[in-house]
Amino acid sequence: MPEILSLMCVHAHPDDESSSTGGTLAKYASEGALTSVICATKGEEGEIRDPRLVIQPWETLATVRQRELKLATTVLKVNFVNFLGYRDSGMAGTGANAHTQAFCNADPEEACRRLVLNIRKLKPQVLVTYNENGGYGHPDHIMCHRITHAAFELAADPEFAWDDGEEPWQPSKLYHTAHSRETHLRVHDMSLAAGLEPPFGNRDPKTFGVPDSEITTRIDVAPYLAIKRKALLSHRSQLTGSRWETMPDDIMAAYSEECFVLARSLVSTSGRETDLFEGLRDRAIAADDYSLLFAQPVGTHFVA
Ligand SMILES: [Zn+2]
Repeated sequence: MPEILSLMCVHAHPDDESSSTGGTLAKYASEGALTSVICATKGEEGEIRDPRLVIQPWETLATVRQRELKLATTVLKVNFVNFLGYRDSGMAGTGANAHTQAFCNADPEEACRRLVLNIRKLKPQVLVTYNENGGYGHPDHIMCHRITHAAFELAADPEFAWDDGEEPWQPSKLYHTAHSRETHLRVHDMSLAAGLEPPFGNRDPKTFGVPDSEITTRIDVAPYLAIKRKALLSHRSQLTGSRWETMPDDIMAAYSEECFVLARSLVSTSGRETDLFEGLRDRAIAADDYSLLFAQPVGTHFVA
């Protein structure tokens, strides 16, 4: 009987899926895992970098970003993309924080319920989101952290959201994305040596990202770097002219690993992982359990 591994990445904005997990999503899709991206917002507050971008009268920036995410996740062969239906809160301290629809102002229980519905439907053994600082302090990333940790517990609780009609499901592992500080330092030095702008602007590369001593899990994405770059550049409105477009291939090759910190696990692992599904490969779900899933078309659809 065929068996399925399911990976769900919970992200804040369109482009986060590609920048921090693009290679990983492409790798596991290529190996036949079910992959899904849950995006909390449509990136209404992100910058517009492409001067040629014309937003048609019938469009909004949100619809442009939604289309770009669909394109990027098609490149990454992601099976499911859902939005949680909130508005981008903008960077901490900006006026957008006060918007009533902003994700940072959402009722955490309702936001968690929306995520739990997706978890129960797609049955991920592995969840991925950000650390308690949201990686770099963005309020939407921090909110993703909060609701994903809550959902790790509540998706399995039959009392929680019992009237949504989905069976409880217990994910087995929860990871935080991690940008390797050593990799960033290497890219910084390589960029300067090549006469290029360092890719982190004014940020101090010595304090950026996560020290390698804290990283538990390294995924080899070298074969998927070209796909990752193509997915990133699908986010034309945000990433045109960015380092992801201009970085030479030999410097891009420094990003041959995507790194994670294992935050929760119900299975024992080596602590030095090279596979998000370590300890779970004998726990794949029999495909027959997926009758609900395969009863609907596989592709992009939207919740809330
Ligand atoms: Zn983001």
